[in-house]
Amino acid sequence: MILIFIGPPGSGKGTQAQVLSKKLNLPHVSTGDILRNAVDSDDEDNKLVQKLMSEGKLVDDNLVNKIVKKFLSKDEYKNGCILDGYPRNLEQGKFLETVTKNIVVIYFNVSEDVTIKRILGRFSCAQCGKIYNSYYSKPKEDNKCDICGSDKFIYRTDDNKESIMQRLKVYKAETFPLIDYYSKQKYLYTINTDRDIKETEKEMLDICTKASYTKLQN
Ligand code: AMP
Repeated sequence: MILIFIGPPGSGKGTQAQVLSKKLNLPHVSTGDILRNAVDSDDEDNKLVQKLMSEGKLVDDNLVNKIVKKFLSKDEYKNGCILDGYPRNLEQGKFLETVTKNIVVIYFNVSEDVTIKRILGRFSCAQCGKIYNSYYSKPKEDNKCDICGSDKFIYRTDDNKESIMQRLKVYKAETFPLIDYYSKQKYLYTINTDRDIKETEKEMLDICTKASYTKLQN
């Protein structure tokens, strides 16, 4: 089963995906992370992807579709995975249906105020990727990752006010229509992620259990 996480930037998709991936033993596929890691080189195509990402715009559907199809065809994903950040529009959603129909969609519903604060405070461990937030969830010890002890942290270059507003605009125009699309197909579960991370985590696990049970029945 493929778990698809849809929600605005800062709704907690990445954080919940990290937790759930460990608990359910499902690989976490984040198209944003894959693209960030792939665009280090100076090649012209990569520069364009870098530019679009830093401006908070979507990169080309064909490129992302190709990446996701390649990942899903690997052996380690045959039992499913968590797709975080894909599909991002109806075209990608329809493309995914040509690859697999075994999906469950979880919609991360959150207010705009909370998402902005979450993004502005967001940083992650450079070594293990653990996500923190300077407003809500700092490392227990200053400058030391709770998981691996590293003192190196990364701030995303697109986590600035201008790019955030653009990403929210893109989300409303392009990604939000997917919610309606999936709800009509009865694949959709909604979770309110305005709350504490631990409460969200518990509800996520309940939803996943319910979703896999429902899938088995059908
Ligand atoms: P994220 O880490 O999911 O917030 O994604 C960061 C950026 O990567 C986005 O603002 C887009 O520029 C790009 N990106 C990630 N996933 C997709 C996708 N499915 N389609 C198009 N662009 C994407």
